[in-house]
Order: sequence, then structure tokens, then C-alpha cells
Amino acid sequence: MKIPVIEIFGPTMQGEGRAIGQKTMFVRTAGCDYRCHWCDSAFTWDGSEKDRIRLLDAEEIYDELKEIVGNNFQYVTISGGNPALIGKPMAEFIQLLRKDNIKVGIETQGSRWQDWFGFVDDLTISPKPPSSGMETDLIILDEIISRLPLDLLSLKVVVFDDNDFLFAKKIHKRYPDAEFFLSVGNPNPNETGDIYPRLLKSLEWLWEKVIKDPEMNTVRALPQLHALVWSNKREV
Ligand code: SF4
Repeated sequence: MKIPVIEIFGPTMQGEGRAIGQKTMFVRTAGCDYRCHWCDSAFTWDGSEKDRIRLLDAEEIYDELKEIVGNNFQYVTISGGNPALIGKPMAEFIQLLRKDNIKVGIETQGSRWQDWFGFVDDLTISPKPPSSGMETDLIILDEIISRLPLDLLSLKVVVFDDNDFLFAKKIHKRYPDAEFFLSVGNPNPNETGDIYPRLLKSLEWLWEKVIKDPEMNTVRALPQLHALVWSNKREV
């Protein structure tokens, strides 16, 4: 009945997807069923920071959020790892937040269904493109997306190269009614110093591809805004 938590921090700003620019607290769970080549949170699953993982119940996490910032938050982003690996305790945590009128955003790759998906305010499903080295099970993804109301769902695909862009097009075509975001990939999450010149160049490349493509007329192509401002700094 506990949630494996590796980070609780904030308030900070959400830098991606439909909640971009939203002030938020972050709760990051440990564990992932994927192993993406460029994972920017590999410490959640590769054992390198296993000593930081705490098993906490819903009330303990909520108490810690309030201890850190009092009432200076109204939105909590639950990220990972893959938070969709966690069942009932996560449902309890989300209900606790919602009871106090705190909005909840979740990001998952769409490999597992959880009944609590329907209780969150923003559910971002982020199928991983070929550059990740992972293969999306489209049958499972179809099943998950068919069960979700469109008003809480958005899809996001990270794009590093032409193959990833083709994958993004395939996903957009398969779920044309879902709000769709493209996000510029950050190939080296351990690079120190300013990375915004490199990210802006990648954004320009991505924008040019979207601008030319009549099949991408309704997508939104964004940078990771937090990476433009804070580079690869953690827990900001
Ligand atoms: Fe990392 Fe997300 Fe891929 Fe898991 S799904 S390995 S957390 S990028």
C-alpha cells in the first residue's frame, strides 16, 4: 500500500505538454518498465540512486508536500519512472489531492492501464519513438486510449530525428482526435552548462518539418521550456 518515491520537490514550473507554464510540485516515483537510451530520469530505475527511494503512503506524501511549501501550490505533477506501475496507493494519493481541489497531472508512456487514469486532470501519454530503443505496443495503447475521455488526454512524442518524426506522424494519424504535442529531444541529460543554443537549433529543425507537413496541421511543437531556462539542473 505504499508508493516508491525518489523525489519530491517544487514549486517549480511545468516545462512540457498541455500544462506548460503551470506552477507545480513534482512527485517522482521510482521504477520503469522501459529502458530508453536517452532517459533523462534513468536514476529512477538504474539503481544508481536506490538509497533515495522511500516507500510512502498517500498521506505521508501529501504531508511532505505541505511541509515543503505550505499552501504555495495547487497543481501536482506525478512523474517517474512510470507512475502507472502503481495501483491502489496512487489512486488514494490522487483522491487526497483532488479532495483539496489540487489538480493532478501525470505522465506515462502508455504501456499499462490504471483505473485511476480517469481521476486526473491532465494525463499525458508519451509513446516512445524509435530513437529510445523501445517498441510501443500499439494494441495496448489502442486499448488505453479508447478508455480515456479526450478532455483529459494529451499525447506527446519526443522527436530527435527523421525516424522519430515519422513515428510521431503515425501516432497522430492513429489518434487524430487527441491533443498532440511534439517535444524537442535532449540527447544528453548529463551535459553541464547552458544547453539552450543546442535545444533552440533542434526546435528550429522540428518547426521547419511541421511547417512543411500538411499532416501536422493541428499539432503543437514545443521545446522543453524548463531545459531552455535551467538546462539540465535537477529538482528545479
Ligand atoms: Fe525513462 Fe520515461 Fe523511458 Fe522510463 S519511459 S526509461 S522514465 S524516458
